[in-house]
Amino acid sequence: MTALSHVMLDLETLGTGDGAAIVQIGAVRFDPWAGDGLVSAPAAAFCESIRLDSVGLGTIDGPTVAWWLGQEREAQDSVLLNENRTTMVAALDRFDHWIREESVEFVWADSPNFDLRLLRQAFGRQGMPWPFTHRQERCHRTLKWQGRELLGLKEPERTGTKHHALVDAYHQAQVAVRILREMKS
Ligand SMILES: [Mg+2]
Repeated sequence: MTALSHVMLDLETLGTGDGAAIVQIGAVRFDPWAGDGLVSAPAAAFCESIRLDSVGLGTIDGPTVAWWLGQEREAQDSVLLNENRTTMVAALDRFDHWIREESVEFVWADSPNFDLRLLRQAFGRQGMPWPFTHRQERCHRTLKWQGRELLGLKEPERTGTKHHALVDAYHQAQVAVRILREMKS
């Protein structure tokens, strides 16, 4: 099996500040240089929705709740009302195991200062060690800007539910693969 050394992470949250409540964690492993860059194996994808009554959920803020109420019903259903929601500690434990199953060279987010920071804080609230170092962090937001401004690339059409962490992570990984390959060629 190819070494899938990259992970794209996306969170859905009920806040935007430090310690914000996380309601869904989505992540996908990818390798920009192999095949189509993405792996369709179920093990390459991670998704957990989190119960709102979880210990250590984080801080819920009004404006973000109001924003969610304005989103499509499909997104609300799959994130906030997902029937398979688990507790925060169980979700983080599963994520930690999933990450450690295979070596990860880089962890991407849009941006690391949002998704990675909030997830790291959630790990901290549970007293769990953070599975990454800052040297592994890569910024999808910067890469996207480079693709648009320096290479003149248009963002590919999105499919699937918007604001579903796994769907978002998958889309971001596709975008990253495309830009990285264009840069390399
Ligand atoms: Mg998202």
